Amino acid sequence: MKEELIKLLDRAYAPYSKFKVAAMLEMKDGKFIPGVNVENASYGATICAERNAITTAIALGYKKGDFKNIYIMVSGKKMSMPCFMCRQVIVEFMDKDGLIILMDRDGNREEYKVSDCCPYPFDEDDL
Ligand SMILES: [Zn+2]
Repeated sequence: MKEELIKLLDRAYAPYSKFKVAAMLEMKDGKFIPGVNVENASYGATICAERNAITTAIALGYKKGDFKNIYIMVSGKKMSMPCFMCRQVIVEFMDKDGLIILMDRDGNREEYKVSDCCPYPFDEDDL
């Protein structure tokens, strides 16, 4: 997965922050779906790699419950967790015991359960 993420980082569009992010969703059917951050001159129109991958999965026909894990690599000096907007979207689609797996170019990895990263989610039970 490390090599795939390194290659994917090159596709990120981050001319403003120079902070590139690559996300690879692992689906329960064994397929992987890529996402990169895509920035915009109107900063608020930027989409993160994690949400890019998840929305692509939905466009491909995947449903809630089809998501297994998400791998993330950033171009920064250390591994980074998804922002809270992405965590909200991760909670919407991934199982509570799904893994958020951070990787760096050296092959180091950290794993976090979705439920540990999003302990008090706003979800369908709130509506
Ligand atoms: Zn994000």
